[in-house]
Amino acid sequence: MLRVARGEAYDPGCTRCPRLAEFLAEVHGSYPDYWARPVPSFGAADPRIVFVGLAPGLHGANRTGRPFTGDYAGELLYRTLYEAGLATRPESIAADDGLELRHARIINSVKCVPPGNKPLPDEIRSCNAYLKAELAALERQSAELTARWQQEMAHREEHLAQFTDLPEAIWEAHRRVAAALDAQD
Ligand code: SF4
Repeated sequence: MLRVARGEAYDPGCTRCPRLAEFLAEVHGSYPDYWARPVPSFGAADPRIVFVGLAPGLHGANRTGRPFTGDYAGELLYRTLYEAGLATRPESIAADDGLELRHARIINSVKCVPPGNKPLPDEIRSCNAYLKAELAALERQSAELTARWQQEMAHREEHLAQFTDLPEAIWEAHRRVAAALDAQD
C-alpha cells in the first residue's frame, strides 16, 4: 500500500520489482538481522534541500534501514551535512541513533537494494513513481506553507492597520468629548 504522509511516499511492503523482491528475500535469508526491505526516505518533513541517491547499498542502507547509513558512502555525506548545519551529528550509524536532519531530506530513487548495486531501467522507472509522488507531496506542502504564511502576513498587516488607525480614532473620541463639554457650557 502506498503511504503518503509528512511528504513521504512509500510502501514498506512493495514487491513491484520481482527481481529485487527475490534478491531481498535471498539477502534476508543470508543476513537475518538486516533491514532487507524498501528503505524509507530520511530527514526533515519540510525540507529546503533534497538529496536523491540511487539505491541502498547491500551492507549500508539495506542493513540499517536508513539511506547512506552504515557504509563508507554516507560518511562524507553526513559529515558535510553536519558542517553545513543540516544535521545534528557528523555521522549516521543506525536508524535509531537519534540523528536528525534540519531542512534536508534524503530520498533514494530506487528503494530496494539491487544485485551488484545496479538497478535495471524498468526498476528505476517503477520506483520513480514513489520518488515523483514524494517530491509532489513536498511541493504541495511547500505551497500550502507559503499560502499559510501569506495568510498570516495578511492577518498581521490587518492587525497593524488597526494601530495605524488608532490616532484618528483617538482624535475622533477627543472631538466628541470636546463637543460634549462645549455643549454643557
Ligand atoms: S525498488 Fe521500488 S518499486 Fe521496486 S520493489 Fe522496491 S520499492 Fe517497489
